[in-house]
Amino acid sequence: MAIRELTHFIGGKNTPSASGRFGDVFDPNTGEVQARVPLADAAEVEAAVADSVQAQREWAAWNPQRRARVLQKFLQLIDDEKEDLARLLSSEHGKTVPDALGDIQRGVEVVEFACGIPHLLKGEYTTGAGAGIDVYSMRQPLGVVAGITPFNFPAMIPLWKAAPAIACGNAFILKPSERDPSVPLRLAELFLEAGLPPGVFNVVNGDKQAVDALLNHPQVEALGFVGSTPIAQYIYSTATANGKRAQCFGGAKNHAIIMPDADLDQVADALVGAGYGSAGERCMAISVAVPVGKETGDALIEKLKDRIGKLTVGTSDNSAADFGPLVSADAVRRVKDYIQIGIDDGAELVVDGRGFGLDGHESGFFTGPTLLDNVPTTSRAYLEEIFGPVLTVVRADSYEDALRLPSEHEYGNGVSIFTRDGDTARDFTTRVNTGMVGVNVPIPVPIAYHTFGGWKRSMFGDLNQHGPDSVRFYTKTKTVTQRWPSGIKDNEGHFVIPTMK
Ligand code: NAD
Repeated sequence: MAIRELTHFIGGKNTPSASGRFGDVFDPNTGEVQARVPLADAAEVEAAVADSVQAQREWAAWNPQRRARVLQKFLQLIDDEKEDLARLLSSEHGKTVPDALGDIQRGVEVVEFACGIPHLLKGEYTTGAGAGIDVYSMRQPLGVVAGITPFNFPAMIPLWKAAPAIACGNAFILKPSERDPSVPLRLAELFLEAGLPPGVFNVVNGDKQAVDALLNHPQVEALGFVGSTPIAQYIYSTATANGKRAQCFGGAKNHAIIMPDADLDQVADALVGAGYGSAGERCMAISVAVPVGKETGDALIEKLKDRIGKLTVGTSDNSAADFGPLVSADAVRRVKDYIQIGIDDGAELVVDGRGFGLDGHESGFFTGPTLLDNVPTTSRAYLEEIFGPVLTVVRADSYEDALRLPSEHEYGNGVSIFTRDGDTARDFTTRVNTGMVGVNVPIPVPIAYHTFGGWKRSMFGDLNQHGPDSVRFYTKTKTVTQRWPSGIKDNEGHFVIPTMK
């Protein structure tokens, strides 16, 4: 297989590497290298920022409706090409093609939201705040902003960040994951084709060197990050120390609480999808099931075992597969290590996916579904993010015990409760110490016009992704207080702080 050589995308053009540094992009189905991605150095980042600064000045002067028209055209282009995009995405990530279509669709929904930018940018107005005084506010773009995104949603997360940012009048520099950069590069071409001026959406491929250059560049006004917690924390602290605005979303350990009154068949179906879908490589995957009471736990394990036995693991282009390979050989090693840690710490191995292999794909990054029961809460298999097809079960004696688990865990991204009791659900949604909550919904990713964000060590920053928070994050508020000569009634009191009498 010929190895493709990828580029950056700067100023409306595919821009070859200048640094001469490259990373490998694998086909997770075979374990073979399929492309080489350039890893930018500081000089390439500098060139991208300089280009974005120029482009942003003109772009910010477009009226919001005209900017929205570009996004509408972009939506059309994505729709025309979504099958090809999904196949490309799946070939580098390893998720199945239907799942890749979902990745694109969740990104598209935020572009649709951003098409409402003329309305979203409207400021506030107070007439007659004092004698002849009117006060109004306007939202202005920040300038050049950057997004650093993870491998696991190579379409959705770049679009979550870029669409609101550019709709607000910023220029956006994307530093996508070096594991699956081809879809982000194609999105850049589609933006250009939709009429986005060159330089408003630039893609700089790379690793820590490129990220550090963005973090240290004085003309990058804000950074949005999604990825693992240690990097999220590093980027947040460095960006804010450099005077930049930052929102950094990190890892997760999402619990599902299963009350004795829940419909256990529905729960088992939901947990299998939410635990093993996309091989567990979702920040909102359910990785811990907490059945309340022994009877609930025993019955749930039986139902899960039955369903897991029927799962099909296959190549990402196999339409019959429930999930495909992991993204890398390292990821497979990490997942297997965590399973062993859980066993060593006393967990009961109910289903072992470690021996899974696919004929003809022996070097692919596969592992089967694993189910661990009675995982001690002191085990690293419970405390840390595994990010693979492993569902751990922690049993709770009571609702209060169950509520404590996600509330006291260091991560606080998503959590779900399965119950038919409204009082329990209401109590749970009010008291649980987690950013996003599902009631009988296993993956409670909010819709595009609400905001997405976890709590505790799942998020560093104040403003969430998409929804109204994204417009707040990508704009600064200017407030104008005005009075015209006819409104000036006396000329006294110039030396004291003005107040509204
Ligand atoms: P990662 O942290 O390894 O990489 C994310 C990005 O950071 C990539 O673009 C990468 O190139 C860059 N990066 C990596 N190391 C860096 C370093 N030392 N300095 C500067 N930049 C660096 O994450 P990943 O493996 O790509 O993605 C999986 C992680 O992302 C999981 O922890 C998952 O929970 C998390 N995630 C979180 C959310 C959320 O919204 N909370 C969403 C999706 C994924």
